[in-house]
Amino acid sequence: MTDRSYLQSLRIPTDDNPLRVLVSACLTGITCGYDGSANGEYPSVLKLLQYDTIRLVRFCPEEYSFGSPREMCDIHGGTGLDVLEGRAKVLSDSGVDWSEGMIRASEKMLQVATDENIELAVMMDVSAACGSQVIYNGNRFAENKVYQIGAGVAAAQLMRNGFKVISQRDYASLQILYSKLDANHIIDSTALDHHEIEWYKTYFKTV
Ligand code: SF4
Repeated sequence: MTDRSYLQSLRIPTDDNPLRVLVSACLTGITCGYDGSANGEYPSVLKLLQYDTIRLVRFCPEEYSFGSPREMCDIHGGTGLDVLEGRAKVLSDSGVDWSEGMIRASEKMLQVATDENIELAVMMDVSAACGSQVIYNGNRFAENKVYQIGAGVAAAQLMRNGFKVISQRDYASLQILYSKLDANHIIDSTALDHHEIEWYKTYFKTV
């Protein structure tokens, strides 16, 4: 779940001292997806490219360890945090255990976040690496695919080290971010974060 009070507390950046934001590389159009694509277009994040008051640090954890293109992978037996703590595994589509490579990638992403002194991460939800709100529970290509609340391995690594992560679908949080980057931005008060949409509330029975 997002921490909007943290977003509200972010400083007002300037052109000379932009907000430092780590972002899943694919969300900015880098073709690092498993199939060599950028995993679609996400205007909510592409919008960030237009501001001079933000410095985007782009990183793809899966490409770091496995290259692009590569197999798809998902977490089996738990969440990204469980993978980090040895209770769950990351398996590629063909059943190869990618846990070690994924943990290494998460450690590299943490190093990037620390070295760059980032103030926020915006990451691709539902990814076994970058998901921050929702991920698959097991293979996403299974006939009865199942979602779970939780973070992917790289996002979980960042979170457990104190970094704040939002997803490209946390529209209410992104509205706050836009307002920090541009004093003239008028916040859309109807925007919702991922955990507030009907699908999420119905699927996870949070209402
Ligand atoms: S690992 Fe993250 S950055 Fe890389 S393609 Fe997947 S979602 Fe995008």
